[in-house]
Amino acid sequence: MNNIYSYPKTKLEKYFLSIGEKKYKATQVFEWLYIKKERDVNNFSNLKKEIREKIKEDFSFDMPIIKKIESDVDTKKYLFELSDKNYIEAVVMYHNYGISLCVSSQVGCNMGCAFCESGRLKKVRDLETFEMVSEILLIEEDIKERISSIVIMGIGEPLDNFENIKDFINIINDPKGLAIGIRHITLSTSGIIPKIYELMELDTDINLAISLHAPNDELRNKLMKVNKVYNISQLMTAIKDYTKRTSRRVTIEYVMLKGINDSKEHAKELSRLLKGLNVYVNLIPYNETNHLNFSKSSKKAINDFCFILKDQGINVTIRKEFGSKISAACGQLRSKEVEK
Ligand code: SAH
Ligand code: SF4
Repeated sequence: MNNIYSYPKTKLEKYFLSIGEKKYKATQVFEWLYIKKERDVNNFSNLKKEIREKIKEDFSFDMPIIKKIESDVDTKKYLFELSDKNYIEAVVMYHNYGISLCVSSQVGCNMGCAFCESGRLKKVRDLETFEMVSEILLIEEDIKERISSIVIMGIGEPLDNFENIKDFINIINDPKGLAIGIRHITLSTSGIIPKIYELMELDTDINLAISLHAPNDELRNKLMKVNKVYNISQLMTAIKDYTKRTSRRVTIEYVMLKGINDSKEHAKELSRLLKGLNVYVNLIPYNETNHLNFSKSSKKAINDFCFILKDQGINVTIRKEFGSKISAACGQLRSKEVEK
């Protein structure tokens, strides 16, 4: 059965038209679901009983369940159990400017990046839109606060689940939905170039983050299989086109792996690569996991790397480390559960 939380308003309008009702009913339903957060259709009091019955017949309101929560001072990590007993996770981060949530887009990931726990376990399936929407609704209910920004940086490659991601973004950005401003939504991708072009054609102001992690093809090929299909030069062209079309600055993610991509030479090479592009670099301290043989760069190596980029006129920040005590690395909580 179709899940109601998978329906952007336009699709719900089509549904109401198809059953001979006015399309503004979709807005009313949206207000119940996302503003009043009512999950029992019997309580949708401004809809006639027969419409409520019809909705009950046609839609499921089911959500995943929260299986486990791990808390730290500035983070809360959630493990969700899906109806088919798959597991995904989402992480809440408390910043001084608000609360952000990192959501998963797939169960596992097929991109197979060498350093990543989600890639190690491979993709089982895409997440349905309602499962992604539920990550936000259930966590907001748990923390009793509003989430102000969303980063699609959890388990999975969002551009490998693009149709569902588009509906998801629609629902959470809708003023009658979760009303999260589009500039408060960030999508991170390993660089599936045709999909990056599809994303830019939507002409939204969504933030785009690109996982680069290496300044040359030789190294990137070793770390990220996707580079063998879409190499760095194609990626740079896509970034240029993206920033031109959207006037938005693109984030370059660069995970700092000890002895692999963190030397001063790498920093210089990265500066040359990015010179003149409308981007800013986010250096990510690597979260070590038990299964993979990568370790995090020293604080000094990260600072030196950062200094060189700055010196070369590249905008750069070092990502604050959140909850490293609580298996915060992308996919770690899930992999513990899967392996149990
Ligand atoms: N698949 C998308 C989004 C999810 S991964 C992508 O790759 O962009 C989100 C970010 O976390 C990516 O930049 C990824 O490279 C990084 N990442 C993966 N494993 C990590 C780890 N153990 N420590 C720190 N960052 C990690
Ligand atoms: Fe997938 Fe992103 Fe992990 Fe690569 S880094 S395996 S694309 S989740």
